Amino acid sequence: MEQGHPWLPPGRVAVAGPPVVRTRAIARTYHRGMIAVPVLSAIDLELAAGEWVAILGPSGSGKSTLLNILGLLDRPDAGIYELAGEDVSDLGDTRRAAIRNQRIGFVFQNFNLLPRTSALENVATPLLYRGQRRAARLASARTTLERVGLGEQLDYDPTQLSGGQIQRVAIARALVGEPALLLADEPTGNLDAQSGAEVLDLFADLHRAGSTVLMITHDPAVAVRAERRLLLDGGRLTPVG
Ligand code: ADP
Ligand code: MG
Repeated sequence: MEQGHPWLPPGRVAVAGPPVVRTRAIARTYHRGMIAVPVLSAIDLELAAGEWVAILGPSGSGKSTLLNILGLLDRPDAGIYELAGEDVSDLGDTRRAAIRNQRIGFVFQNFNLLPRTSALENVATPLLYRGQRRAARLASARTTLERVGLGEQLDYDPTQLSGGQIQRVAIARALVGEPALLLADEPTGNLDAQSGAEVLDLFADLHRAGSTVLMITHDPAVAVRAERRLLLDGGRLTPVG
């Protein structure tokens, strides 16, 4: 683990502990009228602190379904999910929302920034739900935007930013609360090659600084940047080279 990295806040050095993610036999079936559409059948996944893992799979294989479950945006029908040692399988909605806000950063393919809202305000938003004062929220948002290389664009709204910059704002928003787990659903899927490469370079920097990153992609050229790759196929995960 790198020491004294300019991005690594004090005390953020990786320590031995439970896996950040541990799932056993997670299953999810969608229902369209009378028809059952099984998507995930038995997902066993373990992610150690500080890992950068890519999940590959063709379109429709269930990657987003899995990521939404891991991000506590959706619930599995069966299975166990432990997040940083805490069993989150059977929690109520309020507790899940609190854990999502405190422990998980989520990056979406289509960015999901607030329109007509500055980069600074976008990044500060997750801290609102933690009851932080405005000045503290904005200070953290500024530091995080500087960390992703957008210290000069604090006041820009999404129409004034390039695609790659917008995704970096979205990554800053995911990072601002110092989550245990950073989840990214096709984070380069809507970017040109150059912007996509910049976003992957940023993930590499975050990984070096100790973040735990799970990224899903259909693109082997994107997955190759991660430390470890898994293929989602037939509702299960298998290691790939
Ligand atoms: P991926 O992200 O790998 O492209 P998804 O997880 O989005 O795959 O979808 C997996 C399968 O589940 C697809 O066949 C999709 O049509 C289906 N699906 C996804 N969401 C729903 C839903 N809310 N209701 C019914 N079927 C869904
Ligand atoms: Mg998807």
